[in-house]
Amino acid sequence: MSRPLVGRLTISLSAVVENWQHLRSQLRSGRCGAVVKADAYGLGVSEVAPALRRAGCRHFFVSSAAEAIELRQLIGPDSQIFVLQGFDDSELQAYLEHQLVPVIVSLPMFHRWHRAVGGRPNATCALKIDTGMNRFGVSPSELQALTAEPGLLEAAQVQWLMSHLACADAPAHPLNSKQLERFSAAGRSLKRRLPQLQLSLANSAGIFLAGAAHYDLVRPGISLYGGSPRADGSIAMKPVVQLQLPVVQVREIAVGESIGYGGECIARKPMVAVAVAGGYADGLLRSLAGAGHAWFHKSLPMLGRVSMDCCIYDVTHLAPFQRPSEGDLIEVLGPNISVDAMASAAGTISYEVLTRLGQRFSRHYI
Ligand SMILES: *Cc1c(COP(=O)(O)O)cnc(C)c1O
Repeated sequence: MSRPLVGRLTISLSAVVENWQHLRSQLRSGRCGAVVKADAYGLGVSEVAPALRRAGCRHFFVSSAAEAIELRQLIGPDSQIFVLQGFDDSELQAYLEHQLVPVIVSLPMFHRWHRAVGGRPNATCALKIDTGMNRFGVSPSELQALTAEPGLLEAAQVQWLMSHLACADAPAHPLNSKQLERFSAAGRSLKRRLPQLQLSLANSAGIFLAGAAHYDLVRPGISLYGGSPRADGSIAMKPVVQLQLPVVQVREIAVGESIGYGGECIARKPMVAVAVAGGYADGLLRSLAGAGHAWFHKSLPMLGRVSMDCCIYDVTHLAPFQRPSEGDLIEVLGPNISVDAMASAAGTISYEVLTRLGQRFSRHYI
């Protein structure tokens, strides 16, 4: 066999850039950043971030200081890097040296940041407020307390006000307008104290929320990587990822025989099935059993359970000359199977499908 039997993961950087440009074209105000946390949602920050920077992106969001330090080496000094999980005292040197902007998410974290950097030039932070998600962010009453102390916000060099939308992928959800109102009100009142303050609220879905202001900066993640910003998939982005798995074996299965672990999937008629390299250790979730499919000329239903290193698909309905042979690649993600389609078959979301894509595939960037 000429080709090694590993899956082939193709990531289109030009599609990432086109998605970013499309999002930017939607903005009524402000700039378009990019969320590249978790290795750019599993697609490879070392390729994705420089491509976005070349396209003009200058605001990047990661999860941790470690991710931020790596990103700084990749994109150079002229972009802002925000660390979404904020600041720990042990990381102060890294924050200063690499010019990172912590997103301060709690009152104790605010005070630690203030004590560590109070008064130092060029050490700015973003303050995250909770507007109804009750996950990260200082509460409205905590914000009031911070505002009441003269000079405190100034000394901590709060340059950004942020919050995060919980339901923007479901535009009719009543929490959206509640969060928008709370954020706008907090922004207005804080700007009286800090006239230079800039505001950032929207994730991918928030960009498409009717009536939502885009403020000074938006923070798309999933939509850059081809996932729909709507829970119902009603807004499509350009597909970014193609995953093709090689056929390891083609076999005929007699009536009454069982297929795969558990022996629960039974051939009710003579079948032809292909076993392909790629299983749950590569991010093909076990919950795809009974619902997943692949593509080779036609849709191929998954048979039986997902194994650690392989899956089995039904090719009985293909004409014999159309059936894949050993070594052929069949599509499990790509033009015919979107990340959202695979996610819904697995009972999860596109974010999980992408961030779990394994390290064993051969990766190709185009
Ligand atoms: C992950 C994240 C985003 C990006 O969200 P998407 O839904 O992927 O666009 C934006 N803001 C914050 C605070 C995040 O944690």
